[in-house]
Amino acid sequence: MKKNIVIIGSTGSIGRSALSLFDTVLKDFNILALSANENAALLKKQIKKYRPRYAVISAPEKAAKLGKFKNTKILTGIDGLSKIASLKSADTVLMGVVGATGIIPLISAIRAGKKIALANKESLVIAGELIKKELKKSGARLIPVDSEHSAIFQALTGHKKEYVKRFIITASGGPFKNVKKEKLKKITPEQALNHPTWKMGKKITIDSATLMNKGLEVIEAHYLFDIPYEKIDVVIHPQSVIHSMVEYIDGSIIAQLSHPDMKLPILYALTFPERKKGVIKPMKFTQLKKLEFSRIDINKFRAFKLALAAGKRSGTMPAVMNAANEAAVSAFLKKRIRFSDIPLYIERAMKTHRVKKNPTLEDVLKADLNTRKKVEEEINA
Ligand code: MG
Repeated sequence: MKKNIVIIGSTGSIGRSALSLFDTVLKDFNILALSANENAALLKKQIKKYRPRYAVISAPEKAAKLGKFKNTKILTGIDGLSKIASLKSADTVLMGVVGATGIIPLISAIRAGKKIALANKESLVIAGELIKKELKKSGARLIPVDSEHSAIFQALTGHKKEYVKRFIITASGGPFKNVKKEKLKKITPEQALNHPTWKMGKKITIDSATLMNKGLEVIEAHYLFDIPYEKIDVVIHPQSVIHSMVEYIDGSIIAQLSHPDMKLPILYALTFPERKKGVIKPMKFTQLKKLEFSRIDINKFRAFKLALAAGKRSGTMPAVMNAANEAAVSAFLKKRIRFSDIPLYIERAMKTHRVKKNPTLEDVLKADLNTRKKVEEEINA
């Protein structure tokens, strides 16, 4: 029997990589539903090729561009996403969308008890506690797609959690690790989008350049693996060959290594606990010149520090930090603010926010929306 998969965010970087796997090594999967935010042209091509039962375009005004299909039902908006995320016949839901908008379909998939391959880190960041509660109730399972978390997930397998001493999350350091702090003002979107080791979508690539991405990943690890922040360390490793490590109390450290290619963690999340061959080229250790490690300069990469502070503060603070970052990154990509301004907007939003503890989903969404509005206003002022 073929497994049915739903891909939320099929036109993005994760979605496209996943679909390329279905063309090659994942022929035992059936594509049940696809979704795009607003890229109607690509979604249309995907519908023609994969003939899913459902397709969702988030922006309703773009639905007309898709046209009609005999065997594919077209849905729109967040309701459409929630519907495909909880389809009875779906075995696995791949959450490939970027940003806080992933939270509603994610909750729907959890409530429906699905196996979820999670690439959308922002939803865990903004609503980690809530998601954990929902998971407990429904028995749904999250399998990480983020390469660092996939590495930790693999390094934890077969070991008792009580023996974990710490996680060591690796970071490439982004394209500006050797750029002086004063020079960050002049960075253009083109320079920031030129990541040294990973090919990813725009938002996450900017987050990797500010190191916000690593801050989000620490929060993601905290919730995903239920580990205190004190036990999570981050180290810069420019080659991106070691994807993260788990250190145990006896001093053993288990790492997961591969060439940096998102296809591998996507594949593993979809096939776990099985494995498939034929995706990643073999590692030739003798051709690896060196594996380097260094510390993050937290004075230079303020976004990283702010993300950690928001994570530790918890309540509605991570949602505010994340929303301010999403708004600032989007403005930077449109050349409306400078690269070095991104953390300033985040810091201001966090400073003026009154944290609500144990927030409901409504509280989180409200904090998210209000912060976006506020940052937008500040940028326009
Ligand atoms: Mg990552």
